[in-house]
Amino acid sequence: MSEQSVLNATDLARYYTINTGAFSATLTLKALDGASFQLERGKTLAVVGESGCGKSTLARLVTMIEEPTSGSMIIGEHDIASATANIRSQLRPKVQIVFQDPYGSLNPRQRVGAALEEPLLVNTNLSRAERRDKAMSMMLSVGLRPEHYDRYPHMFSGGQRQRIAIARALMLEPEILVLDEPVSALDLSIQAQVLNLLTELQQRLNLAYLFISHDLSVVRHIADEVMVMYLGRPVEHGSAEKVFSNPEHPYTKALLSATPIADPTRISRRTVLKGEMPSPVDPPAGCPFHPRCPNVLDKCGSQRPQLKQLTSGVAISCHLFDQ
Ligand code: SF4
Repeated sequence: MSEQSVLNATDLARYYTINTGAFSATLTLKALDGASFQLERGKTLAVVGESGCGKSTLARLVTMIEEPTSGSMIIGEHDIASATANIRSQLRPKVQIVFQDPYGSLNPRQRVGAALEEPLLVNTNLSRAERRDKAMSMMLSVGLRPEHYDRYPHMFSGGQRQRIAIARALMLEPEILVLDEPVSALDLSIQAQVLNLLTELQQRLNLAYLFISHDLSVVRHIADEVMVMYLGRPVEHGSAEKVFSNPEHPYTKALLSATPIADPTRISRRTVLKGEMPSPVDPPAGCPFHPRCPNVLDKCGSQRPQLKQLTSGVAISCHLFDQ
């Protein structure tokens, strides 16, 4: 674990048992199955993939909303997988989350000032005046004005509401911010402003970001490292520079080929994936991507590829790289 590391996850998995009826067998849904990664101060790990790939489950584990079925997740000196409820509640303020829909995550009947002060009221012994000072200072940090303190969420635009949600997530001075599709609900011009704000806050506060997104064009602007997920498993994991400039896994190539390119001199050849993402309750045998893969080999339908490190430093789960 490097000195800058604030979270170290190894083989993290989360399974759910599904009861299909009194006389039927129970099924196991492997929402997340073997994710290993580190979060570092001042760096952003982006987790990308289609809906159902396991990225939201990962967010719930990192924010300690749910416990892993197996694997370890170390924050500080503690493994969250085996930590007591008391340790988990002590560590919880270190990890905060910003959701996609800022309106849904704010109480419409609570003024902005009260919403920002609430985490301090619950978790600290600060006086009323101290809480107000901290809230005011955080509002300025995220580009809100002092007169916004007494306003309600419905009086703000979508971008301003997301600024409020970010400010609220930072009130307890966390080390890790989980950003779950934080700009997906915003207009393009507002997306850029919120991404710039997140970059500036990360540099100033030395925060570790786990950035969850289905949108590679957004991830390209903010990620230092990218982990591409398919059906609960990482399929490609490496530096953003390498994954974007030279994607190796057929699934990453297909996702990137569907992303708009700003450079008009580059010709994009789009790979259209066949079919839908299979059900995680009944994943295909072998490589789970094989029914949709344009490069499928004979063994792909029966042998599951393992994640292996290439000489480039990128980790890939694909039989094309077996030699
Ligand atoms: Fe495609 Fe086979 Fe690689 Fe899976 S293992 S991505 S099916 S080539």
